[in-house]
Amino acid sequence: MNDIDTGYRTTPAADRAAELESNLTRLLARIDAACAAAGRDPATVRLLPVTKFFPADDIAILYRLGRREFGESRPQEAAAKVAALPGLLGIGWHMIGRLQRNKARQVARWAHTVHSVDSIRLADALDAATVAAQDAGERDTPLRVLIQVSLDDDPSRGGIAFGAVSELADHLARSQALVPAGLMAIPPLDADPAAAFAGLAAAHDRLRTEHPGAVELSAGMSDDLETAIVHGSTCVRVGTAVMGTRPITSR
Ligand SMILES: *Cc1c(COP(=O)(O)O)cnc(C)c1O
Repeated sequence: MNDIDTGYRTTPAADRAAELESNLTRLLARIDAACAAAGRDPATVRLLPVTKFFPADDIAILYRLGRREFGESRPQEAAAKVAALPGLLGIGWHMIGRLQRNKARQVARWAHTVHSVDSIRLADALDAATVAAQDAGERDTPLRVLIQVSLDDDPSRGGIAFGAVSELADHLARSQALVPAGLMAIPPLDADPAAAFAGLAAAHDRLRTEHPGAVELSAGMSDDLETAIVHGSTCVRVGTAVMGTRPITSR
């Protein structure tokens, strides 16, 4: 197995497998409990393990444990892992981090879903890139995209204003190769996550009246997934609680 050297492998493989398995078991129990408390069916909340900064070997372990979707936030790093794991069939790779237009062509080769579309310009670049990837025989599916919404007004964290969601969703619906699949957000560090997720849920309700297929609500991370599930999350993006502490704190 090809290993991405992050300089962070501190445990032997068997120990790492045991560690990931117990983290995953605990996390799935948390999600089940949160769904029970919210009166939701756990089958309606997908778990997206976020594997950024961790090696391809960890993804192979999670695959053996039954996981089939993985979140990555840096195109270069993700592409290296995709290339390192050719034998694992049926994986859906999710690009969850900020994306520059000049990386669109690369991401269109491997991404199943992009969670971080926050401008018409980026949408156009991804649309052209996905068509090009289809023409080159690199993919045969459209690209699911989520609109990233800003829950504060801090542009450095990405996301568009609530008021711009509808226009971007209409634009995506007119694209050739993109499917508007829902919304994504990252709550501000100092905000009350319940208030932030409630606002997001309201925006998602509005979006679905215009785009009924946009059912995905990507919200909730290691520290706030219970709150996100109460507010309708259909996809929790969980890094630390599965993988352990990242060597560098970065989003
Ligand atoms: C890293 C990352 C996560 C996971 O964060 P944790 O707090 O480690 O669970 C979720 N979403 C995005 C966009 C990320 O970049």
